[in-house]
Formats: sequence, C-alpha cells, structure tokens
Amino acid sequence: MGTEALLAAVADEVAACRRCPLAERRRLAVPGEGNPLSDVLLVGEGPGAREDATGRPFVGPAGQLLDELLRSIGWAREDVFIANVVKCRPPGNRDPEAEEIAACAAFLDRQETILDPAVIVTLGRFSLQRYLPGARISSIHGRVRRAAGRFIFPMYHPAAALRQNALRETLFGDIRGLPAALLAARDALEQERVASVGTIEVGAPALVEARPDDQQLTLF
Ligand code: URA
Repeated sequence: MGTEALLAAVADEVAACRRCPLAERRRLAVPGEGNPLSDVLLVGEGPGAREDATGRPFVGPAGQLLDELLRSIGWAREDVFIANVVKCRPPGNRDPEAEEIAACAAFLDRQETILDPAVIVTLGRFSLQRYLPGARISSIHGRVRRAAGRFIFPMYHPAAALRQNALRETLFGDIRGLPAALLAARDALEQERVASVGTIEVGAPALVEARPDDQQLTLF
C-alpha cells in the first residue's frame, strides 16, 4: 500500500473511532490532511468548532493565521501535512485530557510512521509535550531539537497569538527559521543514514546552520 492509501486507512479508522468520550459529541472527526509526500508534519492540539463542522484541520481563525505563517516562508498548506494530538473536538474548546490524548496517540504514531517526516513542527504545548515532556515553550520555541528520534521544531500555537498579539511577531520570527531547520535535519538524517551503513565517519550535525535564501528547497 502507498503512503496515500495508508494515510487514508488511518483517516477511516479515526472517522469510526469511539475510543474516548470525545466521540460522543463530535460532529466530524478530524484525522489530518496534507501532502502525503511532505517532509514536514505540523501537529496542533485538537479541532475547534470549524474543524469539527468540516472534518479538516486548522480551517478556523487559527488556521488562517497558520496559512499566513506558511505563506510568509513561501510554503502552502498543500506542501505540508497537518494533524492534531486529538482528532475530535474537546467540548467548548477545552484542553484535551490526558486520557483523551492517550486514547488518540496511536493514530498520530501511525501518521508519523507513514509520513516519516524530516521535521515535526509542534504547535502549542500539548503537541510539544508529546515529544519533549516537561519542556517549556517559552524557552525552546523556534529552534530545532532532536527528541523521540525526530527533529522537532517547537512553535507557539497560532491561537495563542490571536489572544496575545505580541506572539504574532514571535510566530513570524520563528517560522523564518523553519526552512533552514528542514535542510539541516535532512543533512543530519542523511549523515546518520550513511553512518549507519558504515561508509563514512560523521561529526555532530549542525542543526541550526542558516541557509535562508535557498530557492531550491522542496518539501517532498
Ligand atoms: N487548533 C488546533 O490545534 N487544531 C486545529 O485543527 C484547529 C485549531
């Protein structure tokens, strides 16, 4: 089965899922969507009202800001894959509970395995906690990290900037570093791949080496 079909199979299971109480009150589950070949996976928190009504991630006000952020670096949502920690809307947009996150985790695990992205962008603290438990977004946002066997690029949640205008600038500043982080992660993964077959020796990967104006950057 190809990547697209594997992701579609996960989406079908999400749509039918009744593993936690969020299923009782959802209108539509929101499995996630995007380019199945993308090297970049964005992980948000959970669907809001508009996502619940459409079955699509980040299509409300936070999604509009996310689209703007991607556009600011020359990317589009069609270039990346967008998913959430929980796939069904927590009532009233409350925080997802630990049991709900745990019940949903296997879906995101599978999406990650299928996509095998070079970089995972965490949007907000619930997504960050999945990869870097105990980390504080205020101290690590905008810099790529190696965690849980992945390259993680932590960002504030766009919805936070809708509540707190000062974070807008932070978000736009942080995302400017994402193309370089992607290139650096790809380099490091390639070095690891080569090292794992034992042909050359590698040093520590330079993760934040900046190459901001690289016009050749492709996302898949
Ligand atoms: N916020 C999220 O975290 N995810 C969405 O899909 C929409 C808003």
